[in-house]
Amino acid sequence: MPTIEKIPAYEPPAGVMNDRVVLVTGAGDGIGRAVSIALGKAGATVILLGRTVNKLEKVYDEILAAGGPRPAIYPMDLEGAVWDDYLELADRIDAEYGRLDGLLHNAGLLGRRSPIEFYDPVEWQRVMLVNATAPFLLTRACLPVLRKSKDASVVFTSSGVGRKGRAHWGAYAVSKFATEGLMETFADEMENVPNIRANAINPGATRTNMRAKAYPGEDPMSLKTPEDIAGKYVWLLGPASAGKQGISFDV
Ligand code: NDP
Repeated sequence: MPTIEKIPAYEPPAGVMNDRVVLVTGAGDGIGRAVSIALGKAGATVILLGRTVNKLEKVYDEILAAGGPRPAIYPMDLEGAVWDDYLELADRIDAEYGRLDGLLHNAGLLGRRSPIEFYDPVEWQRVMLVNATAPFLLTRACLPVLRKSKDASVVFTSSGVGRKGRAHWGAYAVSKFATEGLMETFADEMENVPNIRANAINPGATRTNMRAKAYPGEDPMSLKTPEDIAGKYVWLLGPASAGKQGISFDV
């Protein structure tokens, strides 16, 4: 079991992310969208990675309208991407910015809910690829640019079902266990690397498309919004959480 801690209440002070370059996956919608905007408002240069360009363009416009630094749009489908695509992304970050100060592995697929007995094998591979393998590939490819940062924070996205399995959550639950394991393994390897830290975040029930798909009968208005929790992601990606390593955080 990982060490679990709660993130304190946090309102990002103006400029707290100035001069930081942060890559967010799944930046076009849901939690990734809200966190990208919060990062931009706090002064970060955000690299918006996702598979639906028009959604990324809207986030880009919102960050500029809020007075944030000019973000970058990086269209990439984590299902179709191969290792060379990851290396190219890291090379382009290096050429453009010379470092990477934050990496939020946020993109995720729920997959169909089904007992293991009937779980579709192709669906299993897709969910594991996007939720667990892509964060490994992206972390591995970006490590050289993360090493060039003075204070790089790598954040993996977990879930309650990534700590305790639950019937019918199939590959989603297993992929989140894998994510916790990847974070712990990587954080342990970074223990003596003072400028790179890795932690996980479990947002808890949040009003997004994924949550609505998982719980169709639930009243979305009873849930916190991505905007409500975005500041806590800034806490974990920014200087306020300096020194935290290998912890699985609950929002
Ligand atoms: P959403 O479904 O609202 O957003 C997921 C984002 O990931 C979308 O922008 C989506 O892109 C992107 N994405 C999915 N597949 C790919 C892919 N192959 N390549 C690139 N991008 C992709 O989900 P949430 O915002 O709710 O979830 C964000 C994270 O939080 C996930 O990791 C999820 O598991 C986790 N989480 C969420 C909880 C909740 O209650 N909402 C609870 C616990 C954990 P597109 O817009 O193009 O579909």
